[in-house]
Amino acid sequence: MMASPIILVLSALGLQTALQIKSALDGSTIYGLDTRVEGADESFENFGDTVRQLYQAGHPIIALCSAGIIIRSLASILENKGAEPPVLAVADDGSTVVPLLGGTTGVNILARQIATILNVPAAITTSGELRFGTCLLNPPPEFQLKNPGNAKKFIADMLAGKTVRIEGSAPWLADARLPLNDEGELLIRVTPDDVVAGENELVFQSTAQVDQTRPRGKLSVIGLGPGNPDFMVPAVKHALQQAQDILGYETYIRMAGTFRPNQTIHATDNREEMQRARHAFELAATGRSVVMVSSGDPGVFAMAAAVIEALHDSDNPAWHSVELEILPGVSAALAAASKSGAPLGHDFCIISLSDNLKPWEIIEKRISLAAEADFAFAFYNPISKPRPWQLPRAIELLRQHRNPDTPVVLGRDIGRPAETLRTIRLEDLTPEQVDMRTVIIVGSSLTRSFPKTDGGEWTYTPRWYGIKPDS
Ligand code: SAH
Repeated sequence: MMASPIILVLSALGLQTALQIKSALDGSTIYGLDTRVEGADESFENFGDTVRQLYQAGHPIIALCSAGIIIRSLASILENKGAEPPVLAVADDGSTVVPLLGGTTGVNILARQIATILNVPAAITTSGELRFGTCLLNPPPEFQLKNPGNAKKFIADMLAGKTVRIEGSAPWLADARLPLNDEGELLIRVTPDDVVAGENELVFQSTAQVDQTRPRGKLSVIGLGPGNPDFMVPAVKHALQQAQDILGYETYIRMAGTFRPNQTIHATDNREEMQRARHAFELAATGRSVVMVSSGDPGVFAMAAAVIEALHDSDNPAWHSVELEILPGVSAALAAASKSGAPLGHDFCIISLSDNLKPWEIIEKRISLAAEADFAFAFYNPISKPRPWQLPRAIELLRQHRNPDTPVVLGRDIGRPAETLRTIRLEDLTPEQVDMRTVIIVGSSLTRSFPKTDGGEWTYTPRWYGIKPDS
C-alpha cells in the first residue's frame, strides 16, 4: 500500500486550502512551515529537505506553493520513474491543481480528486500515456509486471498506432480502451509461468494460486451519502478502502475519495443498470473485492435493487457464492430535511418523478392519493430536459389538496460545495426553481415554518396529528 498523503503548506492562506483538501483525503497529514503557519498537524523548517525526505519515503505530496519550488527541490533526486509517488502543486488559494510527477502511481487521479474538492479544473497534461499507463502498469496485487523496462516503449508504440493482443485473462484492463486486435503486433501476456518476455511484450505473472485457494469474492453495494465525507457511514469508508474494483458513475466515484493506484476504477456513463450489475458480479465471481457506488442510499432509486435483481435472474453458482452486502447511505431527502429542520417528522413518502421506468399514470395516482391522505412528500428526479411537463403536472395535483402556504423545501447539491437550500410556499413553486440536482420536500397540512434568528427558516412537521397534545 502507498504511504499516506502529505499536504505541505507555506502560508496561512495555504492552510485554509489544505484543510479543505485534508477533509476529503483520508489519512492525509498537513505539514506547515514553522515560521509562517500555525495550526498544521506537523511543522517543518526547511522545505527542500522535507520534500525530498517525503518523496524518498514514497509519500504522495501535495504542496501548496509554486510548481517551480517543488521542481527545483526534487530535481537532484528524480531518477527512478517507476517508483515515484504522486507529486502535485496546488495554488495556495486553491485556484489551480497541477500534477507534476507520478504518472504511473496515480497523480492524475489524485489531481482530479483534489480539483473536485476545490471545485476547479485539474491541469492534466498527459493524455494517452496516462490513460493506458496507469491501468496497464498497476495490476491488482496478485499480478506482477515482469518486465517494467519494456513499458515505456510499449505504451509509445500503442500511442503510435500499433495494436495489442492479450493472452490470458487481464480483468483489470477490461475498461482500459486499449487498441485491441487479435493479430496485434504487441502482446500482453498473463501467465502463472515464469516466462522470458519478448521485445514487444508485457508479461504479467499471476502470483495467486487459482482454483481451490481462490478467495471468496465480495460485492459491496454502497451509498456515499449526499456528498460530504462527514455524512458517509464508516462501514462504507471501510469497504472503499478494501475494494480492488470500484464501479459506478464517474461523478460518484470522484466523490468517493482517494484511491490507491492498485485499485481499479471502472467509471461508466452507462445508463443500463442491469448491465453494470452483471459486470459487478462477473468481477466478484473471480474472487475480487468489488464496490458498486451510488450517491445517497443505494436502495433509493439507485443500484442496490438492480444488483439483487441480477442475482435473482442468474443461475450461475459462482455469482450466488459471492459475499454480497448492501451498505446504506444518507439519502438526499433526509440530508435536505435535516438542513431545513424536520419537515419529514411525521409520515411521508418518497416519489421519483421520472417516468423512464414506470408509467406516468401510476405517478399521478400516487401523488393524488398520498396528497389526499396528507403525507408529506420528497420528490426525486424532479425535472430534466426530456421530462419538462411532469413537474408542472405534479405541482398542479399537489395544489388540489394542499393550502397555497404549505412549506416547500428546495435542496440543491446538498452536502456538496455548491449546496443551496430554500424554503418557499407551494403557491410560489415553479419548475424554473428546480433541476435534476434538486430534491423537493412538500409539507403535509401540519408542516409549518418560522424564522431563524440568523436568517432562513426552520421547517418541521410535528410528531402529533390532529389535536396538539397538552405539553
Ligand atoms: N440514491 C440517491 C438518489 C438517486 S436519484 C439518494 O438516495 O439520494 C437522483 C435524485 O436524487 C436527483 O435527481 C435529486 O432529486 C436527488 N439528489 C441526489 N443527491 C442530491 C443532493 N446532494 N442534493 C439534492 N438532491 C439530490
